[in-house]
Amino acid sequence: MYQQNIQDIVQLQRDKYRENSYIEFQKRIELLTKVQDAIIKYEKEILNSLFLDLGKPVYEAQLSEVIFVQNEIRSIKKNLKKWMKKKKVKTPLIHFPAKSFIQSEAYGSVLIIAPWNYPFQLLFSPMIGAIAAGNRVVLKPSEISENTSHLVKKMIDEVFDKEYVACIEGGVKETTELLDSHFDYIFYTGNSHVGRIVMEKASKNLTPVTLELGGKSPTFVFGNSDLDLVAKRIISGKFFNAGQTCIAPDYILVDEDKYEELVDKLINYIEKFYGEVPSKSKDYGRIINESHFNRLLSLIETDSLLCGGNISSENKFIPPTLVSAKEGDQCMKDEIFGPILPIMKMENLKSAIDYVVKGEKPLAMYIFSNDSKVQEAILNRVSAGGVTVNDTLMHITNEHLPFGGVGTSGMGSYHGKNSFDLFSHQKSVFKASTVMDLPVKYPPYFGKIGLVRWLMRFFG
Ligand code: NAD
Repeated sequence: MYQQNIQDIVQLQRDKYRENSYIEFQKRIELLTKVQDAIIKYEKEILNSLFLDLGKPVYEAQLSEVIFVQNEIRSIKKNLKKWMKKKKVKTPLIHFPAKSFIQSEAYGSVLIIAPWNYPFQLLFSPMIGAIAAGNRVVLKPSEISENTSHLVKKMIDEVFDKEYVACIEGGVKETTELLDSHFDYIFYTGNSHVGRIVMEKASKNLTPVTLELGGKSPTFVFGNSDLDLVAKRIISGKFFNAGQTCIAPDYILVDEDKYEELVDKLINYIEKFYGEVPSKSKDYGRIINESHFNRLLSLIETDSLLCGGNISSENKFIPPTLVSAKEGDQCMKDEIFGPILPIMKMENLKSAIDYVVKGEKPLAMYIFSNDSKVQEAILNRVSAGGVTVNDTLMHITNEHLPFGGVGTSGMGSYHGKNSFDLFSHQKSVFKASTVMDLPVKYPPYFGKIGLVRWLMRFFG
């Protein structure tokens, strides 16, 4: 189905890297500008393909895919010269007048594998970081978001010489062939099952990896808070992209005293945002495919339904769904990754924290409380990739915060300067002096160790 010579492209980038491993500042800017121009040229088609794949509302697509990437390119272009500069570091006096610095260098050819939920952003955001750091890039879009995959392939083929950036479409077969090839860095976003395959394959060539994975992201509602604002912010974060967001609030843990009031307010905001008939809302997406649709249906137990119903298999529509949950329920086992929001009442904050730390480390965590003691108690005990306090999703919007997981939710982090650092090897350089030459360094060593100790203590 996909006709591409994977090995030719991999070999081309490897050869070109060996010929010239350093891509100049001006060339990097030129490549980034090409991306900017292509986004402007293809903006309508990008929005359309995201609609065809996910029924993604134009506003959500603009915000989380197009504008997100455009902002990142602008910021990278503004700062790149500064980031590329060699960083001087101190050199111990004993080496005087030697100098030391750190030089950020490209790894070489980077493979970027993306999933289907933000199929444009999750390819382009790591790609621009890799280009900025001077790498060559092979992109592998998700075959599941097929319209975006075809469009990205068309854009990349049109804009780039394959020695710099190439796009390989395909599914398991093509990705496996790519993973069996020799890249200098692999950046994978997707589920942790495939994450393990990626890491295993990478280990063959000792290729460094970044794994951007998922998990169950908890939302705590404890202590003093404005429940109306809490509900508003949880609903907007959860049902963005119909819940198919890696950092969507996966479930809510709420103080039992606040349970009833919070449920009422959550339902109120579902209606306010998506109307009484959410299937008619222009601001609400669809489930990516039938298999995810069926997986999600199996998580809804009708006797625990607080809000929802009216599911339509025809256009893979599941309305914003709120369910009351208890430990051990099916919806509390794996990441939901869809528009189902379980809410579990807890006796107190300690029992909520104990519940979360029993599970895997989440990709994101949300704390709703104006009480700094509550915030600190959670922040100090629960490890998570990233946290937003008193809102949802917001930590991803600050490019100065590294974005990534921990434990089974991933390893490595990117965005803004962190992307440049992630895709750069920090090469340590020590420029020794040819003027001074301490005799204590050289054999015969007899009787010199005392002097070395003394020199190290006072000049080391
Ligand atoms: P997916 O099915 O599109 O798979 C991701 C990529 O892996 C695709 O390019 C696919 O072709 C490839 N792939 C699939 N099976 C493979 C195999 N057996 N061998 C090699 N490659 C294979 O997307 P997905 O995994 O369903 O994505 C959803 C998951 O990704 C969720 O867990 C979500 O939380 C996570 N996610 C994480 C982030 C993040 O930034 N941390 C962002 C988005 C999604």
